[in-house]
Amino acid sequence: MSEQSDRSTSVRDVVIVGSGVAGLSAAVYAARADLEPLVLEGPEPGGQLTLTTDVENFLGFPEGVGGMELIQRGKDQARHFGAEFSHGSVERASLDERPFELDLASGDTLRTGALIVATGASARWVGAENEDELMGYGLSTCATCDGAFHRGDDVLVVGGGDSAMEEALFLAKFADSVTIVHRRDELRASDIMARRARDHEKISFRWNTELLEIHGSQADGVTGATLVRHPEGRPKEKVDAGADVEYETVDVGGIFYGVGHVPNTDFLVDTAVELDDAGHVETLDGRTTETAVDGVFGAGDVMDPEYRQAITAAGTGSMAALDAETWLEEREIAETQSGPVVEMEADD
Ligand code: NDP
Repeated sequence: MSEQSDRSTSVRDVVIVGSGVAGLSAAVYAARADLEPLVLEGPEPGGQLTLTTDVENFLGFPEGVGGMELIQRGKDQARHFGAEFSHGSVERASLDERPFELDLASGDTLRTGALIVATGASARWVGAENEDELMGYGLSTCATCDGAFHRGDDVLVVGGGDSAMEEALFLAKFADSVTIVHRRDELRASDIMARRARDHEKISFRWNTELLEIHGSQADGVTGATLVRHPEGRPKEKVDAGADVEYETVDVGGIFYGVGHVPNTDFLVDTAVELDDAGHVETLDGRTTETAVDGVFGAGDVMDPEYRQAITAAGTGSMAALDAETWLEEREIAETQSGPVVEMEADD
């Protein structure tokens, strides 16, 4: 239930959309600046860290810390300084005039002076046949959520980055065998993660291979898959180009996608906030968190196609709150000196 009473009429100083590590870090900074931020928790409250196991590289935790614990601590910390939390998904953002208006799926409208977009990114799907039908029925994007269902199974993990390695290592605790299916013959994962996966006795690799079709049904779950291979990699492209490829059918009880994430920016598509080709929020000079719309700031994975770490997301979250605070102060000074600031069109 919402912790804010009259959401449809009041105007907030700052609304933070997203409650992952970036949103929480922004909330701590904004709350400590007495901006009484409202943090809007979307469909994946707590963001990607809640789906991970141990976080080993967040400064200050030499023994590692559970992703869920880190998020819960961040939330407690933000609340301690006065941040409020509310559930809701933004369906439409009106950013041409201030206060900005955010229309939520619930029908509520939020109004705010400054907006921090910290909506993160969601798991990418690969486009295999039947994935729509079988997602959640043996096909998953989250090994930590669903791995325990696959005790004794043979499973596939798709991807060649750190996510895929992490998923495979986690699944190896339960599954009989884990096969990592990667579309090239070279991993994108960091050396340490790649080494752990390569050294694990239950984990093997299918190089230059992609997942074409998933077999099974919602009643029976995943029962197998059709893979396609080409010695030069990216076999699906080779299929499209009419090249000779090898097909293979495998029996598996589960399939996990670990192929990266897409930024959650659908609600910004029709606004003047600029997005890159992949949908990330573009910040003005790549250094600050300012976007093309005055008063809208980006933080975390939604604006960072490069680093995408918990620690960097926390960093940009704090930057966004500091930038928003400065921006609000400057507006207040300008209004005091010359009356209300004329609402302007968003920058081109
Ligand atoms: P990445 O973008 O690093 O890797 C995605 C992988 O999926 C790539 O190997 C890519 O192949 C493959 N891929 C993408 N799309 C498709 C597709 N349609 N079909 C088949 N394969 C596909 O994403 P990650 O989520 O792995 O990592 C993101 C960031 O998070 C990185 O910076 C990573 O270091 C970090 N991270 C760190 C962890 C840790 O340290 N414990 C854990 C998880 C993530 P290709 O290589 O050919 O492009």
